[in-house]
Amino acid sequence: MVLKFRGRLMILTPEIVFRKIECIHPEYLKAHGITALVLDVDNTLTADNSQVLEPSVQAWLDEMRAAGIRLTIVSNNTAKRVRPFAERIGLDWVPLACKPLTIGLAVARHRLGVKKSQMAMVGDQIFADRMAAGLYGCPCLYLLPRAPGDRNKFVQFKRKYEPYWLDRYYKKGGVVHE
Ligand SMILES: [Mg+2]
Repeated sequence: MVLKFRGRLMILTPEIVFRKIECIHPEYLKAHGITALVLDVDNTLTADNSQVLEPSVQAWLDEMRAAGIRLTIVSNNTAKRVRPFAERIGLDWVPLACKPLTIGLAVARHRLGVKKSQMAMVGDQIFADRMAAGLYGCPCLYLLPRAPGDRNKFVQFKRKYEPYWLDRYYKKGGVVHE
């Protein structure tokens, strides 16, 4: 029981929190041996259900590519939503990933050809992105949601339970990396 409990904590408490995706820098990735990133879309690369590509996000994508970081998208949203955005930024994509299930991460890793320790999930939901990474056994670079408001009722429900896990991170001395 104790082990099970500890296991749950380890897959839900963020390991590291960034204010937004632009706050992840190549130096951090290099220092942690991360060579590939699996990117969520909604509230990670853009606002929920938005097709807007902010110049700062485009610049971040360019910075990652220049640093030789491999990128791919894994989203729980539909192909209709993900495809136009993914094609616009020139990335491969997996829709309907059902995170926290790990199938999307497995597909991504197969594409990227890296070890689990070299690939990090980047996303804004504890019970999807953080948990999928924890179950799969790869790092998660957790982001605060990019914009307030989620259209999906189930996401709204899950949001209510996220502060508890963020508090655990803060109580351990964790900070939001800017
Ligand atoms: Mg998201």
